[in-house]
Amino acid sequence: MKLILLGPPGAGKGTQAEVLTKQFGIETISTGVMLRAAMREGTELGKLAKQYIDEGKLVPDDVVVGIVKDRLSQDDCKNGFILDGFPRTIAQAEALTASGVEIDKVLSLEVDDEVIVERLTGRRECKACGTPYHIKNKPVPANGKCVCGGEIIQRADDNEETIRNRIKVYHEQTEPIKEYYESQGKVVSVDSSGSVDQTNAAVSKALGLVK
Ligand code: ADP
Ligand code: ZN
Repeated sequence: MKLILLGPPGAGKGTQAEVLTKQFGIETISTGVMLRAAMREGTELGKLAKQYIDEGKLVPDDVVVGIVKDRLSQDDCKNGFILDGFPRTIAQAEALTASGVEIDKVLSLEVDDEVIVERLTGRRECKACGTPYHIKNKPVPANGKCVCGGEIIQRADDNEETIRNRIKVYHEQTEPIKEYYESQGKVVSVDSSGSVDQTNAAVSKALGLVK
């Protein structure tokens, strides 16, 4: 299964990816997680990415396409993968097609802009493994640490001003990708405005995992 998760920031891509990764036994490749890891490590890539991410802008296409291609060429992606946060522009989608990757399905998680702001301001994340949490919808474990033992933090780009910018960028640059894949008959849409469990049930049904 080669699956793309599409949807605005806060749609629940990372949360659903976590479940799907276990159900399918395949890796999730999240460009957001990879870029933030590079930022933490202070690599050249990380320093470059930080300038864009902190303002809610997209990291340049050639940079992101490069790291995704590298990652997809590794052995653990041979039997399939879930892409979370990539492609995010038409140019990225075209680069993926041009590199010979055949996507099976694009799962579009649909949620209104008003819901997004509330979700992202309450979002928390494991600093070590990237697992998402939410103060109301998916509380952190009682000991205050991630299931992996990592520290739980609020992302710097989850402040209201940056969030509004990311939503704008999503509508302008990422949403057109849906049509790109719709013309190939690959898009399945799911309402993602309910709870994590409700969305997961809808996702499983849409992907034919349950009847
Ligand atoms: P969200 O979907 O909640 O915005 P992500 O973790 O997917 O969060 O991405 C965070 C930031 O990382 C984006 O706002 C953007 O700056 C950068 N980024 C992630 N993926 C890409 C991509 N495919 N192309 C360009 N920039 C990206
Ligand atoms: Zn963790």
